[in-house]
Amino acid sequence: MDKTKEYDVIVAGGGMAGCAAAIASAESGCKTLLIENFGFLGGWGTAALVNPFMFHWASDGKILIKGLFEKINNAMDSAGGMLANTFDTEALIYLLQEMVLASGAELRFHTLCEKANTSEDGIFVHAISKSGDQVFQCKRLIDCSGDGDLAVSLGAKYESGNSKGLPQAATLMFDVGGVNPEKLLSYVKDRPDQMRFPKLPKDVDIAKLANEVYSVAGYYDLIEKAKQAGDYDVPGDMIFFNCRPHKGEVTFNTTHIGNIDGTNADDLTRGEIEGRRQMMSVVRFVKKYVPGFENSYLLRSAAHIGIRETRRIVGDYKFCGSDVTSARKFDDGICRLAYPIDIHSGEGEGYTKEEAVKVERIPPHGDWYEIPYRCLIPKGIDGVLVAGRCVSSTQEGNGAIRIMPSCVAMGEAAGVAVSLSLKHEVSLRDIDIKELKNTLRRRGALV
Ligand SMILES: Cc1cc2nc3c(=O)[nH]c(=O)nc-3n(C[C@H](O)[C@H](O)[C@H](O)COP(=O)(O)OP(=O)(O)OC[C@H]3O[C@@H](n4cnc5c(N)ncnc54)[C@H](O)[C@@H]3O)c2cc1C
Repeated sequence: MDKTKEYDVIVAGGGMAGCAAAIASAESGCKTLLIENFGFLGGWGTAALVNPFMFHWASDGKILIKGLFEKINNAMDSAGGMLANTFDTEALIYLLQEMVLASGAELRFHTLCEKANTSEDGIFVHAISKSGDQVFQCKRLIDCSGDGDLAVSLGAKYESGNSKGLPQAATLMFDVGGVNPEKLLSYVKDRPDQMRFPKLPKDVDIAKLANEVYSVAGYYDLIEKAKQAGDYDVPGDMIFFNCRPHKGEVTFNTTHIGNIDGTNADDLTRGEIEGRRQMMSVVRFVKKYVPGFENSYLLRSAAHIGIRETRRIVGDYKFCGSDVTSARKFDDGICRLAYPIDIHSGEGEGYTKEEAVKVERIPPHGDWYEIPYRCLIPKGIDGVLVAGRCVSSTQEGNGAIRIMPSCVAMGEAAGVAVSLSLKHEVSLRDIDIKELKNTLRRRGALV
């Protein structure tokens, strides 16, 4: 085998978790390779057009995630790519690429890690690409594929879906341009009974708000009217969109496709087709019915349907819903978060009015929970960590910790952990947790 293809660390998958893992590993002195199937970084944050960076603060506004995530945020801000927590997708793609390369990690695009195996000599990652089959060798592997592809190939156990095996619904995200925010927000203010949010006060300064960040969900009556006229064919009884940093652009998180296994190509094909049909129905609906969208147009649809969950690798600890609601802290906590348990019905029913009155399952006011390092260690496997949305969790636990800021924090912790394991020549299970947390603190993380 070509010796140049030997690394200390290989990170499989360049989503938010994988970028963070590769950066932290390389910055900690490990020869690191990041392998990504697409030709750009960011995973669902870019390929699936997911936006914004979801709540990384407690209900009292206290920031819970700093470290690498804060650096990404600040760099995006300096590049003019942020408006509050919404971001410009292209800015993120470029920034992640430059940050990964600046860390010293190597990048390999358009390459799919098919499987891994181990021997006394190390870990071997088998990859396929236009260059043919290739094998890359490493001492430690971080699986950030989102699906736990490599951990599973090494024998890791996994769970998926709810008690019926149904994963959360998939969503094809898309951007719409040509929106008039002043007109849109005036209508939202005048019709609070038809909106899930925001409920705007009568004296709100619309001109000011139109240049700030806004999220809108509702239009119950307009949807009903359009359905009766045969003009709307999307599950659920409301639409949901967030503004983008560029005025007049919004991202829709409205389509819902049920019963999609994101690791099955037939299901993904059905999801993409159905997602685009639903998207066109929303695009036509808003233009015809929703004030402020009269001159709107479809800007772009996601390159990949958004898959909220697939395999959850069974690790040394399984993060669960009661950890969220009880604001549980752990000795090996590597990330703080207060995001609620957020599960989209696996049947793909879409957003409904009934759902709007459900009590959100969150930690007590101002408090937070922690994700333990053990969630990153696949049970019974050595030399491998998982980070990001495929970490060890129940569906409820996963529904809370899958957001981008926590994926970055988990990736950063994984990158530091592999470096400590190599430095002290101990297994990933036996690293000194105090040293892991102190190293993360020195990097600016809140642990
Ligand atoms: C519709 C939707 C809406 C969401 N809304 C929000 C939101 O508003 N805010 C928020 O913060 N979060 C949101 N999330 C959650 C969040 O986007 C994801 O959970 C998070 O981005 C996952 O990051 P990740 O790095 O773990 O995995 P992914 O983003 O899935 O990245 C995995 C990467 O690995 C690559 N890959 C996969 N397999 C392989 C392989 N075998 N070999 C090589 N490369 C591989 C993929 O191409 C991809 O780039 C949403 C998710 C969805 C689907």
